[in-house]
Amino acid sequence: MGTGSLVAWWRAVVMSLAGLLCLFGTAQAGERLEVVATTGMIADAVREVGGDRVEVRALMGPGVDPHGYRQTRSDIVAMTRADLVLWHGLYLEAQMEGFLEKLARRQSVVAVAESLPRQDLLAHADHDDRNDPHVWMDPELWSQVVLVVRDALVEARPESAETFRRNADAYLDELDRLADYAREATATVPAEGRVLLTAHDAFGYFGRAYDFEVVGIQGISTQSEAGLSRIRALVDMLVDRDVQAVFVESSVSDRNIRALIEGAASRGQEISLGGELFSDAMGPDGSYEGTYIGMIDHNVTTITRALGGEAPAGGMQDRLAGR
Ligand code: ZN
Repeated sequence: MGTGSLVAWWRAVVMSLAGLLCLFGTAQAGERLEVVATTGMIADAVREVGGDRVEVRALMGPGVDPHGYRQTRSDIVAMTRADLVLWHGLYLEAQMEGFLEKLARRQSVVAVAESLPRQDLLAHADHDDRNDPHVWMDPELWSQVVLVVRDALVEARPESAETFRRNADAYLDELDRLADYAREATATVPAEGRVLLTAHDAFGYFGRAYDFEVVGIQGISTQSEAGLSRIRALVDMLVDRDVQAVFVESSVSDRNIRALIEGAASRGQEISLGGELFSDAMGPDGSYEGTYIGMIDHNVTTITRALGGEAPAGGMQDRLAGR
């Protein structure tokens, strides 16, 4: 090799090293915060607050029941690699709790619903020392969880704090609008029709916020079985109260609900299926119902219309568009 070509070779090495360093530098500066969330509702809040500064993955997709969900091998890999892991808490992820508590000793793990003030929480029907975990059913309560998500993102990536705060403020305004719509729409349901019967007790906070008597065939967790005598007692109640509609849930089997409708029919009471509600999981990815706001809007609109109230077919979006 001559001196000229040696210099050229050296220059090439330096240039490519500089190029590599440069690439590395940009990757560091623009790197997104990697977040793993257990439920779709939490992941949605991360997406809203984090915007393009975060990359979020939900472990439980549409139709997945969190009460019985156990982490898979690939979930474990994703969680251990993540910058931040967010889970719900309040014993929602009953099968994952042990794993998540262990993980929290080694990396940033936050149970986003655990810090809600106890006086805002409903009791758990089956356990004196626990609370009902389904807090996302009340948008005003969920707004407090969004603040916890915001603070967790700020702590993990302080240099983006201003962006996270701005995004959170805008999202909280949207949640206010959602709560207004829910209040106005459900207020039109006649007093005698305000019974919300679903497969499991996920709607307690919804009932408290919008004044419905809530009855779940199964308890607060889907892990308990409803007995025949329970079904019989509920058929009596439906016939007595002249309830018009009952609801199935996207993440729970509809077997018990169908048994109820048949039981009531055999007693001459016709009860319709009011529709499918999203209780513990959101709708399909990429759809409106696959967002938290779309999920609650769908539930509010479906419940209101099935129980004799007035809500536009297209829900809150129709209302906002003046349709
Ligand atoms: Zn549930």
